[in-house]
Amino acid sequence: MPYGTLFVVATPIGNLEDITLRSLSVLKGVDMIAAEDTRHSNKLLQHYGIDKPTISVHEHNEQQRAAQLVERLLQGQSIALISDAGTPLISDPGYSVVKAIADAGLQVVPVPGACAAIAALSVSGLATDRFQFEGFLPHKSGPRRERIACLAQTPRTLVFYEAPHRIVMLFEELNDLLGGGRQAVVARELTKTYETVKHGSIAEICDWLAADSNQQRGEFVVIVERFSAKEEREVLDSDSLRLMALLLQELPPNRAAQLAAKFYGKKKKLFYDYALAQKKP
Ligand code: SAM
Repeated sequence: MPYGTLFVVATPIGNLEDITLRSLSVLKGVDMIAAEDTRHSNKLLQHYGIDKPTISVHEHNEQQRAAQLVERLLQGQSIALISDAGTPLISDPGYSVVKAIADAGLQVVPVPGACAAIAALSVSGLATDRFQFEGFLPHKSGPRRERIACLAQTPRTLVFYEAPHRIVMLFEELNDLLGGGRQAVVARELTKTYETVKHGSIAEICDWLAADSNQQRGEFVVIVERFSAKEEREVLDSDSLRLMALLLQELPPNRAAQLAAKFYGKKKKLFYDYALAQKKP
């Protein structure tokens, strides 16, 4: 008996009509659907009259499920892998499963469709020739700020996913660490009733978010303009931030900023503002 195939199937990110004809025919044709949250996916499957056995594959059981799914494929069953929304494996479970199946020499077939990052990029008006997908930033303040600081000089458009309770904080951090002048886009609730795509400088978007708590609800993709050489003297790279962090352990902000500015030949204000931002809770 021939071995089965794993189909990695994209599902909608809000609007249920954003599913391809091929996705529907694959979901109808497989022996089993492996879903991140089977109850959540049942709504979509019911909407399209698809009645198939489902099995859960989420971050807590993925390793163990991978071996089980390999076994089923070896028995000749075909399986579709879906997540709660959009493309599986993109800030979603599925990596361990796909890796185990590919490592076993079995066939993995993509069935492409919606992805929030790509949908947001396509309407961002920011450069799309080169971009960097960052997904979700770390939750803790220190590692988040460190990650953003590392991205300050990335010459590629940056794409983040963010939760509603962190969206204001993210823009404050971007403002502190990349400067308020860079262009950005907030793509909120794409394909849904309250879809909003806001373009502006980081500083403008900070104010816009703060002024209307309704704009802080829902799901968000944040796109940030890439670093350009003309900004070079206006931002701090990861080396200068490391030096500042060291100096701040021994010296008051003003003196630390003075020394770091002298060492790197940059404006003292840049270092001083960074030092003050570090003090914020
Ligand atoms: N796999 C999904 C994809 O292909 O985009 C992403 C899953 S990730 C767990 C969920 C995050 O994606 C949300 O927190 C949000 O950042 C982003 N997202 C998903 N749907 C969205 C939508 N309709 N509008 C804006 N962002 C969305």
